[in-house]
Amino acid sequence: MAAKLIKGTEIREEILEEITADVAEIKEKHGVVPGLVTILVGESPASISYVTLKIKTAHRVGFNEIQDSQPDDLSEEALLGMIDKYNKDDSINGILVQLPLPKHIDEKKILNAIDPDKDVDGFHPVNVGRLMIGGDEVKFPPCTPAGIQEMIVRAGVETSGAEVVVVGRSNIVGKPIANMMFQKAAGANSTVTVVHTRTKDLAAHCLRADILIVAAGVPGLVKPEWIKPGACVIDVGVNRIGEKISEKTGKKIAILSGDVDFDAAKEIAGYITPVPGGVGPMTITMLMKNTLKSLKFKLGIA
Ligand code: NAD
Repeated sequence: MAAKLIKGTEIREEILEEITADVAEIKEKHGVVPGLVTILVGESPASISYVTLKIKTAHRVGFNEIQDSQPDDLSEEALLGMIDKYNKDDSINGILVQLPLPKHIDEKKILNAIDPDKDVDGFHPVNVGRLMIGGDEVKFPPCTPAGIQEMIVRAGVETSGAEVVVVGRSNIVGKPIANMMFQKAAGANSTVTVVHTRTKDLAAHCLRADILIVAAGVPGLVKPEWIKPGACVIDVGVNRIGEKISEKTGKKIAILSGDVDFDAAKEIAGYITPVPGGVGPMTITMLMKNTLKSLKFKLGIA
């Protein structure tokens, strides 16, 4: 294998240790810890498993974590009321509403009701605007793109002047990571191209990339011949391509694949992220980082 593996599982441990140390120091000096509330409406098994992982991670780093689980038939008005309550609660630094919400609730309305200074997911239009302006304006970069940038930087990949090609233009991955990589900032200063379903020659664009970030949700979309030798390949895709029995638990689990033909790509790329164990673990990690930042902003020590 030619490529160096960028393991999200290892980087996650480094960052969570840094956060834990910071939380302990703030607790000692200021007598407070970050407060994070997770609102879950309904009982979707996928949402429950995400929320459980978020809570576990928040406890691990020493946050005060509140889980607010609500029934499926919770009204939009009641949810707006809860958000208003947490917006005003001084002990809460981050408000998380687990998506998707039941169909009778307008997701946009809910996300827009969160105080932008507690919007640790970074989805509020105010935070999207702050991200676009860049520099000191940025408060909470959205978690998956922030995780991607962190992995590139911690792997020691040069971003300044690099050709970055982003496959996908979603609001949660493609657009924000493209925006972050061209900013005049450390870990950025790249020349960015965004490609999508209407792009004429996907292969030609990908082949130019020093850093190729793929977030399409199409298993095996990026072929090895689309990769520039030595490039850094960040595979964001998480696709369920089948099921298997877990050796650990004996239960059925999903077989996951990325958007890149990993086995062939790893022989050409200089750096590559695996799926699973690559970008995946970074999202919750960066959520913790944003929540800590929120408290630091409040204390004036960010
Ligand atoms: P999305 O469906 O909202 O957007 C996909 C984008 O890819 C679209 O902009 C589309 O234009 C582009 N695209 C799709 N097929 C294409 C093709 N054949 N050629 C060129 N472009 C194409 O998806 P998303 O929410 O951005 O997620 C993308 C992938 O990343 C999914 O597999 C998702 O599960 C994964 N994801 C992982 C994490 C994580 O690991 N933490 C977080 C978010 C998303």
